[in-house]
Amino acid sequence: MDLLHLLNPKALLIAALIFIPFERLTALHGDQKILRKHWQNDVLTFMINKVLINLCLIATFGLFLGTLTGLIPVSVREFVLEQPLWLQVIEIILISDTCYYLTHRAFHEVPVLWKFHSIHHSVEEMDWLAAYRIHPLDQTVAKIASLLPIFVLGYSGGAILIYAFIFQWQTILIHSNTRLSFGPLRWIVASPQFHHWHHANKPEAYNTNYAAQVPLIDWLFGTLYMPGKKLPEKYGIDDDIPRYYHQQFVYPFLKSSGTDTQPEAGAAAERAGSQ
Ligand SMILES: [Zn+2]
Ligand SMILES: [Zn+2]
Repeated sequence: MDLLHLLNPKALLIAALIFIPFERLTALHGDQKILRKHWQNDVLTFMINKVLINLCLIATFGLFLGTLTGLIPVSVREFVLEQPLWLQVIEIILISDTCYYLTHRAFHEVPVLWKFHSIHHSVEEMDWLAAYRIHPLDQTVAKIASLLPIFVLGYSGGAILIYAFIFQWQTILIHSNTRLSFGPLRWIVASPQFHHWHHANKPEAYNTNYAAQVPLIDWLFGTLYMPGKKLPEKYGIDDDIPRYYHQQFVYPFLKSSGTDTQPEAGAAAERAGSQ
């Protein structure tokens, strides 16, 4: 695997060609610039993270996949593989998103992990590129947690590829600066409204909407926050997150600065009462 393949700049270019005009046509915040604050750093983050995360995933899967697969009875893996493709894709989404939910929630509620995840929440202007501002350790752990069970259970390569395609584009879409309504589907399929609230700098919305694809998972765990058709006006966190990639990389390892968890972690209870 060569470096250019790992970097995969084509994926970023394709996303830009689709989402820049799409955001202009359906802008949620119409006054937001295409080249908004710190976009260069987010492009750099995408490029470097792509290499680091892929290398970590290759190493982790190489080390553990064989052993973990051996723990699953062959009959179970055969049953999984014999299911229709569409059913495998649905199951993969539900299993991986539940694993993602739990990991994401831990990154919000465990102090040492929040320091890593706060990099992603430092975005103050939501757009398609914001999806990529993330600490590499945060994304590596989330990807291992959501992908490893799928491979261990023996889902088909075709089903995993379809899932990966849906996940990639849905992740970009839910961050994008778009005023898209999913209608009644918004309870089943994660929408920009759903994930924008996750990034809102508003106490009622803190520590909510952890799922990446299926809001129903948040509903089941009591962390769903979708106040009608309203959308947030302000994003980000109050912590002083440094601006450049190398500073953001070391930020979670440094002592002190910043809050230990997203503030008002107990807001979920209040929120549930007000819904
Ligand atoms: Zn988060
Ligand atoms: Zn996000």
